[in-house]
Amino acid sequence: MNEHERGTEGLGLFHAMAQHGVEQLAFWHEPSLGYKGIIAVHDTTLGPALGGTRFWDYPSERDAVIDALRLAKSMTYKAAITGLDLGGGKAVIVAASRPAGDVVPDREAIFRAHGRAIESLGGRYITAEDVGTSEEDMEWVRKETTHVTGLRGRSGDPSPLTAYGVYRGIKAAAHHRYGSDDLAGRHVAVQGVGHVGYHLCRDLHEEGARLTVCDIDPGRVERAEEEFGARSVDSDSIYSVEADVFAPCALGAVLDDDTLPALRCDIVAGGANNQLADARKHGLAIHRKGILYAPDYAINAGGVISVFGELKGWTAERARIKAGEIYGTLLQIFEAAERDEIATFEAADRVAERRLAEARHL
Ligand code: NAD
Repeated sequence: MNEHERGTEGLGLFHAMAQHGVEQLAFWHEPSLGYKGIIAVHDTTLGPALGGTRFWDYPSERDAVIDALRLAKSMTYKAAITGLDLGGGKAVIVAASRPAGDVVPDREAIFRAHGRAIESLGGRYITAEDVGTSEEDMEWVRKETTHVTGLRGRSGDPSPLTAYGVYRGIKAAAHHRYGSDDLAGRHVAVQGVGHVGYHLCRDLHEEGARLTVCDIDPGRVERAEEEFGARSVDSDSIYSVEADVFAPCALGAVLDDDTLPALRCDIVAGGANNQLADARKHGLAIHRKGILYAPDYAINAGGVISVFGELKGWTAERARIKAGEIYGTLLQIFEAAERDEIATFEAADRVAERRLAEARHL
């Protein structure tokens, strides 16, 4: 092994890219502005890679890279399964925690630097908001590049459409499980009543579903109690609520070795990204437990539909119709899983991978 090969292996970057199937991984550094950006372009077979920019204080730079790779891949699968002509990508800006008294970097400068990084990719990557970024940040990105969506006065907050897609997905799961998609009288336990969780509770309440909610923000719990007559439990107890449906709408990686044994529901269907701590291990475990799992990237695609609609100049009504089609996508996944005797996450991956393979062939 020569010096060069040893160096590459030490970093493990190409290995990590190969593991996640990522086409391109770009790093940007403007030390004078405090900007460290990572852009992962997972796959552009179906179109330019779309995915938000996450601004987060990671335990290590390695964690930031892995997060970008993982999230970019799920964006490709989300667009593919939803039938959108988009690829998948994700950007991460490393927000370093700094000692007290240290100079706080100028947010506008950071996001304009990010805009220049995006611009240099010539449209292969289109960004939007994500965890830790706002519409205002996207306005700063917009000063440097046109490859940005989710701007003020355009498609706006995507969470009502995400929630509507999740609601349609819950109905599809009920149809598959119970033979009826009527949610009146069904009990849904919602973890997290922030943007998506709140709007989901509204849609479910309007159909007559019974709600149990939790959130670490007591104000948000109160709002759900007052507006939707929801019952509340503390955050640790939500997993063991006896309900028809458990809807994770807070953080990722909530389905793991500790929480899965506690579940007492028939269906897991919620808006959070990357719900399975380990996609394969916990996807199989939930399947063996006899719980119908609605794959996260298929059920929460309403947000990407919203920004895709913005790019294409769709009306709000057209975007809503498209989000409603999540019902049919999920039924197709559930039926394929049953027919092929596989877990639903595997069935979803197959549908997405088939669409990608067909497009590559063309
Ligand atoms: P949000 O921050 O508005 O809401 C999340 C809520 O979860 C907050 O109210 C927060 O207090 C609560 N929470 C955090 N930790 C918790 C815990 N341990 N227990 C209970 N509650 C907890 O975010 P959001 O926009 O509603 O997104 C929610 C999830 O959906 C995220 O995983 C996000 O990636 C995913 N998602 C969102 C969209 C969208 O359109 N906003 C689209 C696709 C996927």
